Amino acid sequence: MRITFIGLGNMGGPMARNIARAGYELTVYDLDPDKVAQLCALGAQPAISALDAATGADVVMTSLPNPKVTQAMATGPQGILAVMSKGSTWIEMSTNNLEVEREVRGAATVAGVHFLDAPVSGGIEGAAKGTLTIMVGGQAEIFAKNEALLNIVGENVQHMGSHGAGYVAKIAQVVLCYLHSVALSEALMLGVKGGVPADRMLSIIQNSTGRSYVSDRYGPAILDGSYDPGFALGLAHKDMALTLELAKSVEATLPMCTQVEAIYAQAVQKFGFDQNHLMAIKLLENANSMP
Ligand code: NAD
Repeated sequence: MRITFIGLGNMGGPMARNIARAGYELTVYDLDPDKVAQLCALGAQPAISALDAATGADVVMTSLPNPKVTQAMATGPQGILAVMSKGSTWIEMSTNNLEVEREVRGAATVAGVHFLDAPVSGGIEGAAKGTLTIMVGGQAEIFAKNEALLNIVGENVQHMGSHGAGYVAKIAQVVLCYLHSVALSEALMLGVKGGVPADRMLSIIQNSTGRSYVSDRYGPAILDGSYDPGFALGLAHKDMALTLELAKSVEATLPMCTQVEAIYAQAVQKFGFDQNHLMAIKLLENANSMP
C-alpha cells in the first residue's frame, strides 16, 4: 500500500514518522522542506509538491492548519483530487468544519476518491507515541479497510458514524479543553484572591469534583507560566470558531462557548497566533492585576 502524508507539522510530523517506522512505503510533502528532509532520514520519499505527492498513492493522509488550506488542497490550483487515483482514499486528519467535509467529500466523490474525516486528539505527545484518539466519519467499509493503518498512529480509533461525524465529535470534545482552561483559571484566581496559595488551590482542585484532564495536565503550567509550544493559541481559537459555526449549522444555543470564543479571539489579537493556547488565560491574570 503506497501512503502519502501531506502536512508534517506538530501533529503530522510525528504521525508520519510512526508510519515510516512501521515499514509502509511512504511519500511526504510539506511547504517547509526541512520537515520533508526529517522524514526522508527515516526512509520516506520526498515529493516536490502536493500534486507530486498524491500521484499514484493508494491512501493520502493530511494534517493541515485550517479549513481554507484543506479546501485548497482538494480543489485549488494545486488540488490533489485532480491527480488522485480512482478508488484511492483520502484520510483527512485536521480539525475542520462540516462545510469542508461536504465540499471536499463532494469533490472527492466526483473524482472517484473515498473520503474519511479523521481528526485526532492527544496533542504532540500522543502523536509522537502513536496513542492518539482518532474520530472517523465516513463509509464503514472504507473505515474498516484503513483501520490497521490508523492504528499505527492512534490507540483509540473509533468509527463515529457517517460522513462528517468525525469532525463533529472532534469539535464537540475539544471545546471542553478551552472551557475547562478558562474555568480552571477562574477557579484558581478566586482561590488566590481569597488568600489560598495557588499550589494548594490547584492540589485541591486536582483532588476534588472539579478535577479534569486540564487541571492535571495544564494546571502546573498555568501556575508557573511554563507554556510549551505544542499547540498554538491561533489554532485553539480556530477550534472555538469552528464550534460556533457547528452550533449555528445544527441550531444549538451554546452561551458558554460564545463567551470563551470571544476570550480566545481577544487573546490571539493581543498575544499573536503562535503563542501557546494557555496564553488565553493571561487576559484573566491581567484583568486581575496578577503578574
Ligand atoms: P502545524 O501548523 O504545526 O502544522 C501544519 C503543517 O501543515 C505545517 O508544517 C505547514 O507547513 C503545513 N502546510 C500548511 N499548508 C500546506 C500546504 N498547502 N501544503 C503542504 N503543507 C502545508 O499544525 P498542527 O499543530 O500540526 O495541527 C494540524 C492540525 O491538527 C490542525 O487542524 C489542528 O487543529 C489539529 N490538531 C492539533 C493538535 C496539537 O496539539 N497541535 C491536536 C489535535 C488536533
